[in-house]
Amino acid sequence: MVPSGSPRHTHWFRIGDLELLVVSDGVMRQDAGAVFGLVPRIMWEPYAGPLDEQYRMALGLNSLLVRAHGKTILIDTGTGAKGSRAPGAVSTESSGKLLANLAAGGIRPEDIDIVVNTHLHFDHAGGNTRTEAGRPVPAFPRARYLIQKGEWEAATHPNERTRGTYLAENIEPLADARQVEQVQGEVQVVPGVRLTPAPGHTEDHCIVELESGGDYAIYVGELAQHPVMLERLAWISAFDVLPLVSLETKRRLTEKAIEKRATLISVHAAYPGLGRLRAEDSKRRWEALKANGADA
Ligand SMILES: [Zn+2]
Repeated sequence: MVPSGSPRHTHWFRIGDLELLVVSDGVMRQDAGAVFGLVPRIMWEPYAGPLDEQYRMALGLNSLLVRAHGKTILIDTGTGAKGSRAPGAVSTESSGKLLANLAAGGIRPEDIDIVVNTHLHFDHAGGNTRTEAGRPVPAFPRARYLIQKGEWEAATHPNERTRGTYLAENIEPLADARQVEQVQGEVQVVPGVRLTPAPGHTEDHCIVELESGGDYAIYVGELAQHPVMLERLAWISAFDVLPLVSLETKRRLTEKAIEKRATLISVHAAYPGLGRLRAEDSKRRWEALKANGADA
């Protein structure tokens, strides 16, 4: 991976021919116990960072911009800035900055050709739409939004457990504007960019694999909420609807990441969320990378 010659403040980096930029939607705060699931507090507390008075930890909201083959692709859209009812005790006071941060990188909403959602939870699809004249409308007026068919079904038919996170205002305006392209299974977005099923967090949750010129990267979606959860397979969040499936998905993808020396882009790690997994004895070790993809 070669750091590109783009201006420093925008932190573009390359995977072969693909140009990448991690763009933050800000930070949200979420109940730390729920993030770490069955793991006892005494074990996760050293990793969670400072908790607020409601026992919430800070989670990054790292979206990924990809320029390839003349297309500009945005992967995940954070919580958005509509001031939606976030589920439970989640704080979105410091999120909703995606459009401003895209603008700072010289990207206008109409520049986005394709939006990819790893899944449709409020913190990955919230920025799909924005408020105009009091109503939610697609935030990226020219974009096709690629969404797994099964995820679309789950999100548009939520149950008692999922309806707090599948918010109609993030989803329905896309269908009304005929901007949704439902896909199934593994899909090539453009050459070198693949939407790949990675079930567990939701049944149809996906990651995005980026492969070009011998370099390989994975946008991990909700495979893990914190890098330590990539090191420890059994650490799985309480939000996952199929935790034992998550375990096997994580086993397979972390082995692949180690073998191929993947650059990993973690949605919820601190910005920019870039790192690499290394096998050390019988353990896995996360090594953070700098915003330009170089060793930290
Ligand atoms: Zn999430």
